[in-house]
Amino acid sequence: MNKRDYYEVLGVSKTASEDEIKKAYRQIAIKYHPDRNPGDKKAEEMFKEAAEAYNVLHDPKKRQQYDQFGFAGPAGGGFEGFGASMNLDDIFQMFGDVFGGRGFGGFGSGFSGRAARQQHRGNDLRLKVKLSLQEINQGVTKKFKVRKDITCTHCHGTGAEEGSSHETCPTCHGSGIITHTTQSIFGMMQTQGVCPTCKGEGQVIKNKCHLCNGTGVTKGEEVVEIKIPAGVAEGMVVNVPGKGNAGIRGGIPGDIQVLVEEEEDKTFVRDGNDLIYNVLLDFPTAALGGEIDVPTVEGKTLKVKIESGTQPGKTLRLRGKGLPAVQGYGSGNGDLVVNISVYVPKTLSRDEKNALESFRNSDNFKGDRQTEESIFKRFKNYFV
Ligand SMILES: [Zn+2]
Ligand SMILES: [Zn+2]
Repeated sequence: MNKRDYYEVLGVSKTASEDEIKKAYRQIAIKYHPDRNPGDKKAEEMFKEAAEAYNVLHDPKKRQQYDQFGFAGPAGGGFEGFGASMNLDDIFQMFGDVFGGRGFGGFGSGFSGRAARQQHRGNDLRLKVKLSLQEINQGVTKKFKVRKDITCTHCHGTGAEEGSSHETCPTCHGSGIITHTTQSIFGMMQTQGVCPTCKGEGQVIKNKCHLCNGTGVTKGEEVVEIKIPAGVAEGMVVNVPGKGNAGIRGGIPGDIQVLVEEEEDKTFVRDGNDLIYNVLLDFPTAALGGEIDVPTVEGKTLKVKIESGTQPGKTLRLRGKGLPAVQGYGSGNGDLVVNISVYVPKTLSRDEKNALESFRNSDNFKGDRQTEESIFKRFKNYFV
């Protein structure tokens, strides 16, 4: 499926304020509202597309993830598939507030009634995962045994005992809201509130399910597979929609949010998507030139040429041999940066000492003289 950029869907800039996003969504939602476009599949698609975009962009945390990862980022489906799994009812449940109060207020009758009834979304679950650099490089699927609220197996989430059913709430007659009319100095004022009898659901249960006591959820365990995309970094959060706690009485489930932690690596230091490899070069190779072995994060070995006369502090950049960018954010791989130091032997044999002594008076070995020259060059203006 070819998805359009969420900002493009809502027709707002990347720097749009929450208010602008809300306004834009409201306009599109009203234009493509199913009540206005009965039987128009295209309009319904536009309506859902906008709801999906709004779902992500109106939530600062999801928006930041989207900005960072794009669609594919927060793995395990990420933002992907949200539209497909959502039906129109869900959309009204979630974003009823955008339309200024419950439902669509006077906008046809079909959906406003449904939207008025409140559903209880399940809570989000938070997990942590510690990843090795190798796992980060390749991306990884992790299994978690999660203790959470699951849909009651006896009543299948309805909260009602078998054979029993829901009845329309006698207090609010199914609307989920009650209206108070009060006399004020401005005249008659109407205020609306959530019905206390049914908590806004519009229905009450005759016989509550004995297993879940009418909530529709019980404590349970589930093994959840979560796909972590390649390139993630410490502190990033991977959002897995719909895998959190089940919602009360058939409400939509919450999400699982996985916080990424990085294991320290023995070989590499990470710098964004670059990997730094510190190498201690032996003195003869630094002076004469040669070849060294540089490991990669994939476990391969690269032969890297060392020029003669290589100085400590020199860095070599092996393009594209670092970590991949998280999909949808940046492109290509980071680099593998080789930092070179030169090892000076701590002990020497007699022969080695003699050999080195013979160089002591060689001009080529006098670093100090070169340094002084360069200092002179740098500051020569002051000496004139
Ligand atoms: Zn039950
Ligand atoms: Zn009620």
